[in-house]
Amino acid sequence: MLSDRVQRIGFSPTLRISGKAKQMAAEGIDVVDFSVGEPDFPTPDNIKRAAVRAIEANKTKYTENSGIPELKSAIIRKFKEEYRAEYKPSQVIISSGAKNCLYNLCTALFNKGEECIIPEPYWVSYPHMVELAKGVPVFVHTREEDGFLLTPEDLERAITPNTKAIILNNPSNPTGAAYNEEQLRAVVDTALKEGLVIIADEIYEKLTYDGFRFVSVCALSEKARERSVVVNGFSKAYAMTGWRLGYAVGPEELIAGMDKVQSHSTSNANSITQWAGVEALNGPQYEISRMVSEFQKRRGYMLYRLGMLSGISCFKPQGAFYLYSNFSKYYDMEFENMQIRNSYGMSYYLLKHAHVAVVPGAAFGSDNFIRLSYAASMERIKTAMDRITEAIARLQPARKVKIFALNDTMTKVRNYVETDVNLNFDMRDALIAESDSHLRYDNYYEWNANIAGVVIQLRTNSPHLNDFWMENWYPAQLETELEPHGVIYAVKGVTGRDPRAYYNSDTRTGFIFNTAFYGQLRSMALGMVSDIAERMFDAHFLHGACVDIDGKGTVIIGGPGMGKSGPIFKLLENPGAKLIAYDGVMMRYSAREAITDMPERKIYFKTKFVEKMLKLAPLLDNSKCENVITNKSECANEPCLREDNCRLDRGKPFCYSAFGNSRAMLDPYWIGGTEKHCKRTVLKNIIILRNDQFAPLTEALPAGKAVEIMEQGKTGMFGGGDERFFNPHLLAKTSDRIELQKRFLTRLFSLAKVYYVNIGSSGGKEAMMKAVEEIASE
Ligand code: PMP
Repeated sequence: MLSDRVQRIGFSPTLRISGKAKQMAAEGIDVVDFSVGEPDFPTPDNIKRAAVRAIEANKTKYTENSGIPELKSAIIRKFKEEYRAEYKPSQVIISSGAKNCLYNLCTALFNKGEECIIPEPYWVSYPHMVELAKGVPVFVHTREEDGFLLTPEDLERAITPNTKAIILNNPSNPTGAAYNEEQLRAVVDTALKEGLVIIADEIYEKLTYDGFRFVSVCALSEKARERSVVVNGFSKAYAMTGWRLGYAVGPEELIAGMDKVQSHSTSNANSITQWAGVEALNGPQYEISRMVSEFQKRRGYMLYRLGMLSGISCFKPQGAFYLYSNFSKYYDMEFENMQIRNSYGMSYYLLKHAHVAVVPGAAFGSDNFIRLSYAASMERIKTAMDRITEAIARLQPARKVKIFALNDTMTKVRNYVETDVNLNFDMRDALIAESDSHLRYDNYYEWNANIAGVVIQLRTNSPHLNDFWMENWYPAQLETELEPHGVIYAVKGVTGRDPRAYYNSDTRTGFIFNTAFYGQLRSMALGMVSDIAERMFDAHFLHGACVDIDGKGTVIIGGPGMGKSGPIFKLLENPGAKLIAYDGVMMRYSAREAITDMPERKIYFKTKFVEKMLKLAPLLDNSKCENVITNKSECANEPCLREDNCRLDRGKPFCYSAFGNSRAMLDPYWIGGTEKHCKRTVLKNIIILRNDQFAPLTEALPAGKAVEIMEQGKTGMFGGGDERFFNPHLLAKTSDRIELQKRFLTRLFSLAKVYYVNIGSSGGKEAMMKAVEEIASE
């Protein structure tokens, strides 16, 4: 890959709402843009005039790399007057925006692998800046109940010997939360005690409300000043976003490091802009208070309007110009077939149906929220709030069950075929050409799936595969004109080829020839998502069945034939139990939690399981099915055949258990609504099943041993299927990727307990079920 270095740096699909909004506006649609990150006021006239004067005086040449002395003096004066903090010119650097300062700082500060604590929700660029500098972002969740402020206890817990720095954004984008002096001191003291560098992003310093008294980190103590870099700029307070001017003050050594980075990248900030900056700091400041009082009015009005919406809560911010509002109550709703499942879906819905652009909370690390900025006129805000109110009122509870006749497709191939993962570039190009020749305009289907934030495009000539694909995943509506993260060609009718699959990891391209068995396609998609997410999003796939009992997640892992389904169905009988996923989850980590997501909209479900849970049968009658047997001669159920006990003879024209690999697309919400299914949990227990007549029933496993067991993926003392990580979908198996998997698992096992449970113990199945239940409901 030519761009290896930035592979992990995603353009988050969630950010594309603003792009789409601009596109709609260009088409003449009246969109209110609440997604912007800049004041809607003009730069004050005195500042503009200062720039003109600078041009006329020919101050248009390179300046000192770290900034002109006049602006440095103005900055030094500001810190002295406002915070009694003394800085020398060598402790000040001026750059092309606060963002540029932060970037230079990260580059100068982090050695490979050093950790940077980032309270979440966070401004979108922090993690990427840290990663580009080869540091490791470590997120610490903050709660709405705590005013989205980091607590010293949570900070303490996230610190490791590798922690180098913490980023404190005060007031915060996106939440608007601000630390008062006491709160700030508590967090800063903890950071200082642990020897961290404090990166204080105070760009919203001047935009605070209700008489809030802002205190800079540098005002706290001599020690705080020595260990912190305060970053600020002109974008927000002086409405100068386009001018690109920011500055940082801090320890001489770090400022010198930033100066080096700057000298080899952007050189000095724009000379004219710097002179405008001198006027901004030294000139009259009343435009700021005018802007603040206008923002305060708008904030009050929008809070009032959001408060009128049932089920929506909004934290009252003390600073910045954003509202961070919890819309998750509506994530189970839909309107005219548009289903809302997450912040991205909600934002897309609001854009399409209310013509209001907002930013999905997922971009800031918290999916329950959306960010609305109030940098728009009062009149526009009123229009937008009316539209949002109407759009929310139009949402309907999720789809009701509709009754269909059995919707079944038979495929010629009904089992997995081999996947060749060593496809080279030339072969891949040849296979694309071969596929393209079979994908003609009159038989071509293309659909983008959004699988845990990874966009996989299917290109196929099989209506059945397309049909199941669309049932299985959430759509990635906005991505059609953008490049997906990965592409799968699933092509039927290729003469001279056996059913076979191929994958090239470097280009994230997959091929499936001559099989319409959906399991093959789904497996490849999950393998690709894991391959991509591991590199780009610091997330990975864990193969197993998952339930949540009273908010605590348990995953059951086991090789083929180990019978994960038995204990899962048993656990579901528990009144507090919800099914999360049946065949694997996506794992992400915050500092203290293993966050577990169901990546699929529907479950690709073996229909024979109706035998274990009879009440599922009517649900399958309404599902799209694959290879359900409707003809006695195709029955493959040996006991039935032996005992001449045919279910087809007993009334139904089809049989769910005649063939072991017949499947249905089951909507997990049909099982018992939101009481019995949810999409996310925090993993507390991991159960690995084994079959060993000499081993004890349960055994708590130390993390290291558990990683070893997972890597080998052996089913029991008899070996069993040697399925690495018990994951049949694994595609990228090179040694570096195996190491990466092991690192993920080490992290997982430090956050959740892991057990061996023996299905071969003398107590039999019942003892095993009981052991599982005890672990899961602990
Ligand atoms: N930090 C935060 C928290 C911000 O919201 C922004 C702008 N959106 C910046 C830094 C960057 O500011 P600048 O325009 O000075 O680069």
